[in-house]
Amino acid sequence: MKVYISADIEGITGTTSWSETELNAPDYHFFQKQMTKEVEAAIEGAILGGATEILLKDAHDSARNLDISNLPVNCKVIRGWTYDPMCMVAGLDSSFNRAIFIGYHSKGGSERNPLAHTLCVTADIKINGEYASEFLINTYAAALHGVPVSFVSGDVGLTEEIETFNPNIVTFATKEGVGNATISVSPRLAIAETKRLVEASMKVSRNNLQVTLPKQFVVEIIYRDHTRAYRNSFYPNATFKPHNTVEFVTDDYFEVLRILQFLT
Ligand SMILES: [Zn+2]
Repeated sequence: MKVYISADIEGITGTTSWSETELNAPDYHFFQKQMTKEVEAAIEGAILGGATEILLKDAHDSARNLDISNLPVNCKVIRGWTYDPMCMVAGLDSSFNRAIFIGYHSKGGSERNPLAHTLCVTADIKINGEYASEFLINTYAAALHGVPVSFVSGDVGLTEEIETFNPNIVTFATKEGVGNATISVSPRLAIAETKRLVEASMKVSRNNLQVTLPKQFVVEIIYRDHTRAYRNSFYPNATFKPHNTVEFVTDDYFEVLRILQFLT
């Protein structure tokens, strides 16, 4: 059974400030280690739950965050960016039984994590009128290949979003954002619970996890800088929505992934 794992850092236990998420910044090293431990816990849980093969995507910033020295022999890791539209779930295809997201975070447009954003920090993204999270974007990307998401860890703003989206997806809340602060669980608890809950999530049936893709997607990319919105509105079939938004309508979710890859 093949399992796909995508790992980010802004939902890892304790991360609070951007300097803690940047490769080689002095503040970064503890959080890089904690990200690695939470991912290793997810891998152990997945294997206990029946995974025989794992593909791991390092999916934050440089995409070279994880210390890969202890990865089990049945795990491969994608480091760096492929630059294809699957982006944070690159390499995910219909051969996978399920996907797991570690260290995910609240969406751009949310006040629930000081590091809340979606894909980039210079624009927020709406899909069908609602601010969209990386969880939503990547869950739909997995759904394109018929692959459901069974476990997600991240801040409580995100886990509450998932609860309303599909309560069968198992979640673990690592922290709560309050203003520019975070209230985190113990890093040790995050590791233990990630392993336990990932294993439990492996037993949830694919039918109960699978989400249906909407028939149509109205994508709005809302830029901080209105001049960038104007420039990017010349993307094929996109329109400029004054004063700072590019709008794009399609019924093909891969086209959503494509425009996000080029315009964010
Ligand atoms: Zn990130």
